[in-house]
Amino acid sequence: MSGTSERGDKRTSGVGSNTPRRAVFGGTFDPPHVGHLILAEWVRVALDLEEVVFAPAAQPPHKQGRVFAPALHRVMMVQLAIASNPRFSLSLVDVNRPGPHYTADSVRLLSAQWGGPDTFFYLIGADSLVDLPTWHQPQEILRACPLVVVDRPGVHVDLERLEQVIPGVRQRVVRVSAPLVGVSSTEIRRRVATGRSIKHLVPEAVEAYIREHGLYRVRPNG
Ligand code: ATP
Repeated sequence: MSGTSERGDKRTSGVGSNTPRRAVFGGTFDPPHVGHLILAEWVRVALDLEEVVFAPAAQPPHKQGRVFAPALHRVMMVQLAIASNPRFSLSLVDVNRPGPHYTADSVRLLSAQWGGPDTFFYLIGADSLVDLPTWHQPQEILRACPLVVVDRPGVHVDLERLEQVIPGVRQRVVRVSAPLVGVSSTEIRRRVATGRSIKHLVPEAVEAYIREHGLYRVRPNG
């Protein structure tokens, strides 16, 4: 695996024949939005991947204290959001097992399923990379798979500092420059709770699902 590289082009330099051909995109997807879809497709093309596997999180331990829409709703919304892209798929690796739901365990399971380490990238936004030291067993995650990190508006990543906290992280991160889309699930929940439009911020089918199931009407804690 090569070290950190800024990617807007086709392949990861120096990775050779072991370049993973898929990326796993973990997230709470509460709800999934156009930012998720744009960055997933951008990364897929930039790294010439066969597929991006969306893996909704059950109750992420690092987002304790927040109330999430039930996992079933989030899974359904992800399914609707990715339906039109044949290169996107869904994994229930996280939601289909008892907690605690650590990403380290999910990537271990996926690694076993797909034939060992480095069979996939784990895709995250820059804010998640900044948070990585607070995740459970970050070194284990890095052992299982390289990270693909895309920029996020307003987020600065200090890789030197991160390297001091998680030695070796730099060598396991591929940075992809994707268009900055300043949409977040938090903002969408807020807009629904205050009766504002979310048109074009989420796929139409997701918008309809949120409406039909009355999701996010009251969102006291973000
Ligand atoms: P919330 O606002 O509820 O925290 P979110 O919009 O960050 O949610 P998540 O489901 O937590 O969405 O995101 C999954 C992954 O996608 C994270 O790694 C996050 O950094 C990344 N991500 C989400 N939205 C964007 C965006 N607009 N640009 C870049 N990365 C994003």
